[in-house]
Amino acid sequence: MRARTYILMCAMALAGAARAEAWAWSVHRLVAFRAMQAMGAELPLPAERAWPVLWRAAVAPDAAGPGQLPPIDHVFHVTRDRRARPMGNAPRRIQELTWRLMSEELPDDQVVFELGRICHLVADLSQPLHADGKARNPDCGRVHPLFEKDADADRELASVAAVAPTTGTTATGWESRMEALAGESSRDFDAVCAAYAPGHPGYAAVRDVTRRRVACAQGQTLAIWRAILAQRGAAARRRREAASWAYVSVPLVLLWFLIRGRVKREEGRWPGQGTVRRDGRDASERAFRKLEERLGLGRDTVRGGRG
Ligand SMILES: [Zn+2]
Repeated sequence: MRARTYILMCAMALAGAARAEAWAWSVHRLVAFRAMQAMGAELPLPAERAWPVLWRAAVAPDAAGPGQLPPIDHVFHVTRDRRARPMGNAPRRIQELTWRLMSEELPDDQVVFELGRICHLVADLSQPLHADGKARNPDCGRVHPLFEKDADADRELASVAAVAPTTGTTATGWESRMEALAGESSRDFDAVCAAYAPGHPGYAAVRDVTRRRVACAQGQTLAIWRAILAQRGAAARRRREAASWAYVSVPLVLLWFLIRGRVKREEGRWPGQGTVRRDGRDASERAFRKLEERLGLGRDTVRGGRG
């Protein structure tokens, strides 16, 4: 990608309107942008075409319109109480979107759009206040918009590098892996709430936590995008192989029928016709001689020669 395009895209990623839902939109777009940058040619579209799609998709789950998801799909409040069920549907929704992308043939634009929506939910689960809630700290409702507004204003987040996932990597399904991600994020829940308690320094106390969570969101997004695209690549290869087998096997089968039909026709001819002509004549000659011998007659007698 040329430097000018890159700078333009970076500026666009950071120039999002702040919204008090999930991360601010600029953070969602930033995570999508950095993941797109790291993927390079692995994405089905070149960056110049992928970015306008990701720009919309990275915030589509929050915005009215195509791709919007209900609030319950943006959270997964883990609970320390083993008897209580976690609240939220984000890991399940990520699993469903992943399955769909892995199994369906879709246009490249739509694949990139769905990758962007997955990126949004992964970023949500990387946010500590999406991974726990009022049951643990009733003040978190007040803290949520303050924290996200401050994160939105933190321009240093643009230089955060992706961190490869460490939690949930041994889990078999994406739902379990995403639950593990929420579990990891929830460990910073108390720190974020405490930072905004009266008399505390606010965002300055959790700047490093925020960078770590954004780095984690980028790493998890890359892991899930790569898994999806590898699966789609394998499926496409299988389809190509099946098609090339058809190219080879159809003419071979036709040839086989052609040869078989010809042999049948040859078998159906009378002796003396075509390829069996000589054999037929030899067989009748032999039968004639046998008859002559049995009758004790000379050859000429039977054949009506001079008696
Ligand atoms: Zn969200």
